[in-house]
Amino acid sequence: ERVGFAVVGLGRLSLEEILPAFGECKRARPVALVSGSPEKARLVAAQHGIKPEAVYGYADFDRIAENREIQAVYIILPNGLHRDYVLRAAKARKHVLCEKPMATSTAEAREMTAACDAAGVRLMVAYRCQYEPYNREVIRLVRSGELGAVRFIEATNTQTMGTADQWRFRKALAGGGALPDIGLYCLNSARALLGEEPVEVFARITNPKDDPRYREVEESISFMLRFPSGAIANCASSYGAHESKDLRVRLEKGWIDLENAFAYEGQQMRLAHREGKTEAVESVRLSRENQFALEIDHMAACVAQGRTPHTPGSEGVQDHQVMEAIYRSAETGAPVSLPTVAARDATR
Ligand code: NAD
Repeated sequence: ERVGFAVVGLGRLSLEEILPAFGECKRARPVALVSGSPEKARLVAAQHGIKPEAVYGYADFDRIAENREIQAVYIILPNGLHRDYVLRAAKARKHVLCEKPMATSTAEAREMTAACDAAGVRLMVAYRCQYEPYNREVIRLVRSGELGAVRFIEATNTQTMGTADQWRFRKALAGGGALPDIGLYCLNSARALLGEEPVEVFARITNPKDDPRYREVEESISFMLRFPSGAIANCASSYGAHESKDLRVRLEKGWIDLENAFAYEGQQMRLAHREGKTEAVESVRLSRENQFALEIDHMAACVAQGRTPHTPGSEGVQDHQVMEAIYRSAETGAPVSLPTVAARDATR
């Protein structure tokens, strides 16, 4: 029996990626929709075999509690609304998969984990790259120690944006600009690769002059993370640079490049290491799978088996803590130290 999900929010990500990905899921199925546009929702419901009576509005969201087919909800709303809907979902006793960034502050993220713990429901942050096979392979290889210690991680996530009328340029709805939206992938990836938490961050923000889009949120941000092992991650993220979404790891005995690391598809992995006296450079090829379907199926398995997800709410809390330190550094122009946090369980 597949785990039934209510999809909350029918914007771009829901319509273009998530609902189609359910078609490739093995353990999950969409059983309800929550939307502000009843007509659109009825149409989408019909396309995905969802019963018309399982279409809800934001005002009557709390009625999902009465629908026993709904075991989990997938929150795909603007970031500033995640907190409210996660709290409402927990109150309805539904497990929650929440899009990234988890919230717009550490305080909100903590409130969300506490609410889900108190209600006895699972909370997972939709860090899709941690379910994507190439990213997983890079993490496995780095953690295996085969290539020695990590010296540098270079992570870049840039793209260009449209006009000023989007919620992503409103601080209240987005929480910030390029950092929480796409720079977050660089941060989350560096932490996952090393299985360590940064102890110091240093950051700079640059914004174009007189661009109405960047009155409330940043366009471009560069940040450095220093980890207890000595590894340094250099990360760059921008809403104003041609699309590039790459991850590079420089280790003692080799390097790993993952092109399109943070993209929906098109990952290309290359690996270099020394074999005897010769330098070997090889391409690594894995079977292509839909990372959104893998992510949703993981949540479904955790719900069915009563397990803690691989990317639980506490991961979102930690990323928000680091992002707040990054913003503080950019504001003050000085490095910011972070409290030493226990390293994550390396086996996860
Ligand atoms: P979007 O603007 O396309 O969709 C947002 C939806 O929320 C719309 O249907 C809109 O009608 C609805 N909404 C409800 N209340 C709203 C309000 N007060 N203001 C504005 N919209 C409101 O956005 P999106 O790109 O689908 O992003 C949704 C979430 O998914 C965000 O948290 C975003 O960070 C995340 N996202 C994740 C990925 C990923 O790769 N994992 C990719 C894109 C977006």
